[in-house]
Amino acid sequence: MNKPIVIVGQGIAGSTLALELIRRGYKPFVLDASWIFGSTAAAGGSVHPWVLSKQRPTWRGLESFETAQRWYRSAEAMLGLRVWHPLSLYRLSPSGKSPGPSPALASPDTGSMGANSRDAEKHILEDGRIVHAGFGAWLNTRVLVSGIRGYLARRNMLRTAILGERDINFKDRIISLPGGKTLGYSALVLATGLQASQGHGLPWLPPATHLPFYGVLGSIIELYLPELQLPGLIHGPVNILPIPGTGRIRIGTTYHREYKDATTPPNDAQDLCRRAAAILGGFDAADLFRRIEACWSGIRPASRDRLPFMGPVPGYENNGVYCFNGLGTRGLLTAPGLAAQLADALGGTDSLPEDLLPNRGRV
Ligand SMILES: Cc1cc2nc3c(=O)[nH]c(=O)nc-3n(C[C@H](O)[C@H](O)[C@H](O)COP(=O)(O)OP(=O)(O)OC[C@H]3O[C@@H](n4cnc5c(N)ncnc54)[C@H](O)[C@@H]3O)c2cc1C
Repeated sequence: MNKPIVIVGQGIAGSTLALELIRRGYKPFVLDASWIFGSTAAAGGSVHPWVLSKQRPTWRGLESFETAQRWYRSAEAMLGLRVWHPLSLYRLSPSGKSPGPSPALASPDTGSMGANSRDAEKHILEDGRIVHAGFGAWLNTRVLVSGIRGYLARRNMLRTAILGERDINFKDRIISLPGGKTLGYSALVLATGLQASQGHGLPWLPPATHLPFYGVLGSIIELYLPELQLPGLIHGPVNILPIPGTGRIRIGTTYHREYKDATTPPNDAQDLCRRAAAILGGFDAADLFRRIEACWSGIRPASRDRLPFMGPVPGYENNGVYCFNGLGTRGLLTAPGLAAQLADALGGTDSLPEDLLPNRGRV
């Protein structure tokens, strides 16, 4: 029997790769500690192809968005779950008009909120604060990744396990599983995000530590604010993402500082409220702060040149060890297309893009 391709990590990278391999007729085997450790669990879930401040697509933005939309839709059909929620996309008005109270977005206490999303859209647009900038989506990552986990587990393709250095015999390409069993592999793909490379609660895996990561901290707050019916996702100094059908919004941004733990420091929550209030008008920061239901932080597995790492791990080229990592701030957008490329390369039907190889010189 052919040895399987083993994937370590079932965040968005490991999940998309596993399904791409299955679509090509392989039976991969996935080992994952728990996706709650990962960056995918922390993601706000916004998917769109733009660098809105500069009004240009992100790296591979437009093609990735098309691919992602198709991919997540087909995953929905396969899993019988709803995870992809299309949204209009807005950015701050370039006129730089200073924000004041907006009639449609008045304080919840006054009860003068616009009656429906069209009101809110009309007023916030007429107010000159935001302009329509395209389309995006909210991806419900928790439902998606749990759904894929169940799909793999039912087919004996997943094992919950923490893999440490001592569990891998790189020379003979064998992994030791909990309970004393061993598993040979044809290729070992480390889709471990930053966890396994920086040791955030999980054992260090040396191949992953060979990659020059640059972790970027993101913080998110979730508020229950049903009276604020936003017309879509607003992208500015903070992202304001309505979670369709829940009355909740997520406000998040990136903080470039060293990652400590998964708790959002109170200062971040206050800062997010202050910045969101300046965009929305009608709510002051204290109003927003009082409506917080949850807050969390997480680290984005970014590289120094902001491109993913995909290919043989330097120093382990002869041991069949690959990585699929460094997805950075837009991993939900790029993972499906990259996973398809990696699956083709592992199957020998395509080569890997040179600019993504982990041994590229410039990182
Ligand atoms: C706060 C925040 C908000 C974000 N918002 C967005 C957003 O709105 N849109 C967007 O596109 N991107 C967003 N991102 C970025 C996005 O989340 C990442 O690019 C993406 O999720 C990375 O996925 P991954 O699969 O590479 O890593 P992860 O999701 O971290 O998955 C790694 C997996 O490997 C497992 N693992 C690690 N080590 C081991 C081991 N030794 N043994 C077994 N298993 C192991 C972990 O348990 C985990 O399940 C955000 C990130 C953060 C932190």
